[in-house]
Amino acid sequence: MAYLELKNVCKSYGSGSNRTEVLKDINLSIEEGEFVSIVGFTGSGKTTLVNLIIGLEKPTSGEILFKGKPIDGTSHERGIIFQNYSLLPWLNVEQNVLMGVKETFPKESAQVQKSMVADYLNLVGLTMAANKFPRELSGGMKQRVAIARTLAMSPEMIVMDEPMGALDALTRGKLQDEILKIWENNKQTVLLITNDVDEGIYMSDRIIPLTPGPNATLGPEYKIYLDRPRDKTELNDDWNYQETRNTVMQYLIAIGKGRKKSLGKVYSLPDVLPKI
Ligand code: ADP
Repeated sequence: MAYLELKNVCKSYGSGSNRTEVLKDINLSIEEGEFVSIVGFTGSGKTTLVNLIIGLEKPTSGEILFKGKPIDGTSHERGIIFQNYSLLPWLNVEQNVLMGVKETFPKESAQVQKSMVADYLNLVGLTMAANKFPRELSGGMKQRVAIARTLAMSPEMIVMDEPMGALDALTRGKLQDEILKIWENNKQTVLLITNDVDEGIYMSDRIIPLTPGPNATLGPEYKIYLDRPRDKTELNDDWNYQETRNTVMQYLIAIGKGRKKSLGKVYSLPDVLPKI
């Protein structure tokens, strides 16, 4: 039995002429402890897919099973990390993480809850920033708080929706390594949604493209045969990595061209200059 299974999942919004067919016939199986990435263009339906998996939305047709049971609403079993951190600005770092702990472990004493928060802040290297407010943190630090809050809720599976999308390249690389280190210790099941092929290959066991919408569906999956822990600088010279990267890129470029054709008429912009 797969840990997470999507069977012929379709999702559309609206009705009649306002109907948008977003996802069509999504079939996906993820095993316990696997790290899987889905890579796709902006607007293809990645967030819609995330919302279905965490239970914020229901499929229009098809089924989503988590540990063999249909998903019915959100649950602490499936944690989520968003791109925009979603921290509460009026709470400091410690309080933001504590909120997750209280929600999941309401019966624990205040002392135990506080010590859990301290452990997770330590794990993401933010012990010194416990009293800071989100406005005082860099993007990378905010995302670390969001990761600590999600981990503190002890989810069995973590869904990450472009978690590094808003970060600069250096912070992004650093955070990728930190997430991998945590994952290698905990071995939680992870589904990473990204628009970055390199990130998907570097982090995952499998990478699967999502075709452009409408009616977006999953393309062929690519298994990543790279030993862990991985080293970014070594990967640049790794034949296996280059081969996988080229294959996935070529697939995305080919379906991207198909999307342009299907958009039909190309409008040319008027030849105008601003008045000075
Ligand atoms: P991505 O995350 O890949 O950028 P989304 O899942 O956010 O894509 O959106 C995919 C498509 O679904 C877009 O065309 C978007 O306008 C449409 N969409 C998403 N949510 C809704 C909604 N609640 N109602 C109508 N259309 C929606």
